[in-house]
Amino acid sequence: MNILSINPADNKPLAKHKSHTPKQVRQKIKQTHRAWLKWRNTAFNERSGLLKKMADVLLSHKEDLAVLMANEMGKPLKQGIAEVEKCAAVCTYYAGIAESFLKEQIIATDAFKSYVTFQPIGVVLAVMPWNFPLWQVFRFLAPALAAGNCGVLKHASNVPGCALAIEDIVKEAGFPDHVFQTLLIGSGEVEAIIADPLIQAVTLTGSNAAGSKVAAKAGELIKKTVLELGGSDAYIILKDADLEQATEACVNSRLINGGQSCIAAKRFIVEEEIETEFTRLFVEKMRAKVMGDPLQNGTDIGPQARADLRDELHDQVIRSVQKGAKILLGGEVPKQPGAWYPPTVLTGVKKGMPASDEELFGPVAAIISARDEEHAITLANDNIFGLGAAIFTADKTRGEHIAATRLEAGSCFVNTMVKSDPRLPFGGIKQSGYGRELGMFGIHEFVNIKTVFVA
Ligand code: NDP
Repeated sequence: MNILSINPADNKPLAKHKSHTPKQVRQKIKQTHRAWLKWRNTAFNERSGLLKKMADVLLSHKEDLAVLMANEMGKPLKQGIAEVEKCAAVCTYYAGIAESFLKEQIIATDAFKSYVTFQPIGVVLAVMPWNFPLWQVFRFLAPALAAGNCGVLKHASNVPGCALAIEDIVKEAGFPDHVFQTLLIGSGEVEAIIADPLIQAVTLTGSNAAGSKVAAKAGELIKKTVLELGGSDAYIILKDADLEQATEACVNSRLINGGQSCIAAKRFIVEEEIETEFTRLFVEKMRAKVMGDPLQNGTDIGPQARADLRDELHDQVIRSVQKGAKILLGGEVPKQPGAWYPPTVLTGVKKGMPASDEELFGPVAAIISARDEEHAITLANDNIFGLGAAIFTADKTRGEHIAATRLEAGSCFVNTMVKSDPRLPFGGIKQSGYGRELGMFGIHEFVNIKTVFVA
């Protein structure tokens, strides 16, 4: 069996990679487990030195890595370079801070001494998606290695080149052999890997369907999972908001990575008094974005990552229109080879339409009208997902109150777009998944939080 990478700009094959056989996969998991038996005993300064080296290696290859992402999944070069820099930043961050997150915590009890110690658990399986083919992996890998764990990666089948490049980066940084390995396999083989006794836990970023399958298997075997799934992030725009600034942030968030981001803004819930002006500015800014060759510097949006996903997105648009939504911009599949889809704006979006109830993983914005602030909050929360949310208002204190106490999401931002940051925990509630990545909470997901009691 082969894993094929296809350039979504023209749907032409780029490279063919031979899949690993079940026997090779078992062998690799064994190797990584053996590497872990040594890695778990390494000192923090050794781990942190290697993570810093890995940051340097990433930066030294940033142009090549950005070209690889552009070719395999259509990410514009500028965004690819920023992604590599963010991967380097997460390595540097955990290199500097992991020791303090994993320091023993003394807890006074009736013991002579009692405390909590954070111990590595072993080999973690990472099942990762194609949308941020490097970042999604490094945000798992940097804290995992810093905590003394090891990892095997099942990457999305359309980015095998990125998967292999990550393995090379770990090697070039000088980590001991096999602490991290890529498994070139299809999704049908994941259940057998979860069942391997040497796999201790699984982290998955991707669709709800994949998350549910993986969590069911891991649950049956009592193995821990962290799931980062879909989102339909609501951005609320109150009538006192600075509309220039709000529309700028809303458009940038909707179009990040061609709209293929779990925390891209998807539903724009606008107080009706300002809806006309918001819509005018929003459409103007969406129209100004350049769709084109991801290898060209001026490009804002490349092709969608796969033709089948583009077709699904267009179908969601058509079904929303059939239920009464109006297309103000875009909404047509360009007549050219490749997985292209233009920036698209829908208005009159209501509950019961795909643009309101499902995740639209592409450059399609849904504008939803709200009677007032209270109605806007109700609409934002009336959704199966709960990953991110944002609110725009001139009253920062009011915005902060709504973000902190009223919006049902894992990350709530005021007057700016939702983004991940190595220092802050990241993850969702409801159908967006559970567990956290990044920051201190992220590194604590895959450790044994062990109580030690000395009488
Ligand atoms: P998937 O969830 O199918 O892919 C993500 C990863 O999961 C890939 O490595 C995939 O492998 C693997 N996978 C898929 N099915 C299973 C399974 N049954 N058991 C184990 N692993 C599995 O996403 P798609 O690429 O199909 O995208 C579909 C939708 O998912 C998007 O439109 C979007 O809504 C959402 N999505 C969300 C992401 C996020 O960041 N939260 C990222 C990507 C997608 P393989 O590629 O071999 O199938």
